[in-house]
Amino acid sequence: MAENSNCKQCDTPLRLKIISPVAGEEGVLKVSITDFPGLECERGHRQFITRDFPMQLLEQVTSGDRTGLPVGKKQGLLFKKHHCGKCGEALGADGEPRPFAFDVKIADASQMRVELTVAVFKCASCGQEQLRESDEIEGLAPAALAHAFQAAGIKP
Ligand SMILES: [Zn+2]
Ligand SMILES: [Zn+2]
Repeated sequence: MAENSNCKQCDTPLRLKIISPVAGEEGVLKVSITDFPGLECERGHRQFITRDFPMQLLEQVTSGDRTGLPVGKKQGLLFKKHHCGKCGEALGADGEPRPFAFDVKIADASQMRVELTVAVFKCASCGQEQLRESDEIEGLAPAALAHAFQAAGIKP
């Protein structure tokens, strides 16, 4: 474990630090993590527990169906239009931001709580609630997480 290593910036010993919250956003996606396990030196510099920790977290956040909601249909390359995946009716422009929370545990690090807030679109015609695009979370999560780490001062 890298826990015994020293700070890359000032070379003082690093200690385990549980950071809350680690939060950032990109487009319609917000990510907020509580109890994020990181490392901190006595001068307050922060870094990840392991080098690939952020990549492993990204995989966890984007893997599987975190919202349990169906996905709408997208039409047009240049002028995108979104339609209900169930009845085909055009979806409104504004979704309702809704949080989806789940626990993530990576290797032997302590468990953290991840909350994704993403726009949910309710079809005006049939009432089906859905995400607008299938790759919305996958597409925005890397930048949202990067902003969150940046805001919390956690460096690779
Ligand atoms: Zn330091
Ligand atoms: Zn519909």
